[in-house]
Amino acid sequence: MDYLTDKEFDQYFKLLNAICGDYSQWRSPKALKLHKCEFGCDIFKNEQYFRKGYNLGTIKLCKNCMEKMLFIFFATDPGTTKIACWVRDKRFEKMRKAVEKLR
Ligand SMILES: [Zn+2]
Repeated sequence: MDYLTDKEFDQYFKLLNAICGDYSQWRSPKALKLHKCEFGCDIFKNEQYFRKGYNLGTIKLCKNCMEKMLFIFFATDPGTTKIACWVRDKRFEKMRKAVEKLR
């Protein structure tokens, strides 16, 4: 089952990173070898997958599991989406002000 359109996926993925710490952002590399998703799925070579580091190692998610997580996190909860948008806008504003100071 498709939970999200490609556009929704991209939008929610950006929001997910907006609420993650600067040093624990999700990356979306292409697999160079076979990996295991955190939930047991295979991530085959050349497939896009998602990874982030944390204090005990690295979490890897296949695209399907990331899609489910984004669906549960954002699509089913306008409140979470609203908070993430607020954080994203605050971060953007902070960055804009920092850039202005450099001028
Ligand atoms: Zn998976």
